[in-house]
Amino acid sequence: MSAATDDRYKGYRGPCVELMKRFDVTVWCEVRADTTRGRFEGLLLPRSETSDEDHLVLKLNSGYNIGIRHDTVRRLERLGYREARYKIPEKEFPTDPTHPWVKLYGTGGTIASRLDYRTGAVIPAFSPGELYGSVPELADICNLETEKLFAVFSENMGPEQYLVLVEKVGDAIREGYNGIVIGHGTDTMHHTAAALSFMVQRPPVPIVMVGSQRSSDRPSSDAAQNLINATWAAAHGPIAEVMVCMFGPTSDRYNLLHRGTRVRKMHSSYRSTFRTLGDIPLAMVEKGSFTALKHDYLTRRTDRDVVLQLAFEERVTLAYYYPGMQPDVIDALVERGYKGIVIAGTGLGHVNRKIYPALERARDAGVLVYMTLQTLWGFVQMHVYETGREILGLGVIPLANMLPEVAYIKLGWAMGVHPDNPHAVRELMTTAIAGEMTEREPHDGYLILQGGVPEVQEFLERVWR
Ligand code: ASP
Repeated sequence: MSAATDDRYKGYRGPCVELMKRFDVTVWCEVRADTTRGRFEGLLLPRSETSDEDHLVLKLNSGYNIGIRHDTVRRLERLGYREARYKIPEKEFPTDPTHPWVKLYGTGGTIASRLDYRTGAVIPAFSPGELYGSVPELADICNLETEKLFAVFSENMGPEQYLVLVEKVGDAIREGYNGIVIGHGTDTMHHTAAALSFMVQRPPVPIVMVGSQRSSDRPSSDAAQNLINATWAAAHGPIAEVMVCMFGPTSDRYNLLHRGTRVRKMHSSYRSTFRTLGDIPLAMVEKGSFTALKHDYLTRRTDRDVVLQLAFEERVTLAYYYPGMQPDVIDALVERGYKGIVIAGTGLGHVNRKIYPALERARDAGVLVYMTLQTLWGFVQMHVYETGREILGLGVIPLANMLPEVAYIKLGWAMGVHPDNPHAVRELMTTAIAGEMTEREPHDGYLILQGGVPEVQEFLERVWR
């Protein structure tokens, strides 16, 4: 095959190429495919060099890709041709002396990704320069400087990356930026938000984490809206805390700002996936307008000195309890040298009796064990049942309404800050320093679906009528 032919049928072989030739279509053709499974319309994508030879791949108008087996195709009709270009020009960002200065750090994730048609995978490929080249509205908000720190999906973020990020955040604060934005994969954004909340205490300016659930080459992408609102919150918003700024309601109306220690990704694919748990979100941000939902936040103060504490003990872990858990799970952790264990227990903070001797052995080995809840909402209350009191008697320390992942991060940080000082660790773990434990839950926090607010209100009114 000549190179030109290769390009027209890029990545396809055997029966798929025959099919494309028979119906006179090539890659990048918009096609209507009549198949034994129904009719599909979309863009015929190039295929991965490593893929099978049986399937054509169509990018549907919804943005989703589907594979169609060649032997199910009855007819292919060419509707048009549209070669996709995913290289976005890096734009020189205009500087306006009246605008605040924002530093954007990129770590990767979908917000910094595009589809790689060679492998069919989503790869981190946008440089931050391309990122704002694709969202020119950012120039109306601030002067933006960007720096790409990592290009990873967020499951690859961990203590090593947290420490680099914290140092960089410290640099940006020292250099006098008015706000900081951190682009990050959504999957573990709440872990990194918690790490920043403990390691960067009392920042003078907003530190806003942002991501997107859908990559920017998809029509329903949330990347631009999230980035615009996050950048606005960093440049102009009054709250100087570590926050997550993500899609609020499904109706594209506004973003919510969540406190870094109370936020969690709650849905694998919805754009409105982040929720504040145990509280209500801090604020709504909607194209330059800001509505505070809470008022107990730290405000911007250029005269406030940030406290940076870069430390993390990696031998801590999070154990999600399940009925039937065997004591050797805990024993194995102790034997392998883990120094701290956060348990996500059932109900008010329980594990089965079988585990008790292992908890006792952990305590005797000097391992610190803390209790959090799988229910995510509510407080650990180990005085209510006899079993809870027994677990307390084994030295397990309850952590109020601290979220399990937040407790894991806090324990790693606290043990890093105070190595070999369990009393200081315990003191730090049981004192709220960044909103990670609250006095009580708001009566409306659990009921309001946050981001579904208008929808839920409408629904309830219909039910009450
Ligand atoms: N897997 C991606 C990540 O967390 C998902 C995303 O960015 O939304 O990096």
